[in-house]
Amino acid sequence: MNKIERFSKVSKYISYLPLIFLTIFLSGFLSGRPLLAHEWYYVKRVNDGDTIVLADGRHIRYIGINAPEIGHKNKKAEPFGYAAKKYNKTLVLSKMVRLEFDKQTHDRYGRTLAYVFLNNGVFVNKVMIEKGYAYCLFRRPNNKHDQVLLKSQRNAMSAKRGIWRNWKEKKARYWGNRRSKRFHEPTCAFGKKITIENKIVFIRIWDAFWAGYAPCKKCMAGGVRIDD
Ligand SMILES: [Zn+2]
Repeated sequence: MNKIERFSKVSKYISYLPLIFLTIFLSGFLSGRPLLAHEWYYVKRVNDGDTIVLADGRHIRYIGINAPEIGHKNKKAEPFGYAAKKYNKTLVLSKMVRLEFDKQTHDRYGRTLAYVFLNNGVFVNKVMIEKGYAYCLFRRPNNKHDQVLLKSQRNAMSAKRGIWRNWKEKKARYWGNRRSKRFHEPTCAFGKKITIENKIVFIRIWDAFWAGYAPCKKCMAGGVRIDD
């Protein structure tokens, strides 16, 4: 092969390059997951069932979910708090994750708000709900995946997994707020402020969760009533 032949062969391959890049871009675009736009981050620590720390130091709070608390200085751990942390560890610790954002990128504690995905496509926030290690905690305006998460919660509730296991409660009265998607004890000051149009009455906590409402942090102490 002389120089001219070799040159024409190489230039022929180079001329294919734009086509190759276009194919990669389009295949990503059509599958809804642009391949070139992904960035992957190493998970160096798992704090609990809904918070992780990346190698770059960022604290990531999972959007749309709330896992039971683990023990803190003055607070006792909630049921399933450590089980949720352990399960989250098996999912993401020492792995590479991709982040997807909603309208707000940070919470008031400076943590990054994200939907977290593994490279095999597993949607971590959803799996934590699906396995019964967290419940839905919706907060406007970050509502991109609310319906997917609520569907997973109903699956977990129906199957009585994790926090939904051995559920017992007496009928009572709780006030839900359609706008904030929180429910309250009737004595709660926040509950009393709900406008008529936004108020919905639940006679079981279970029903409130089923509808996608989360317990008020003040009157319900953020916890879930479970006998276990
Ligand atoms: Zn309340």
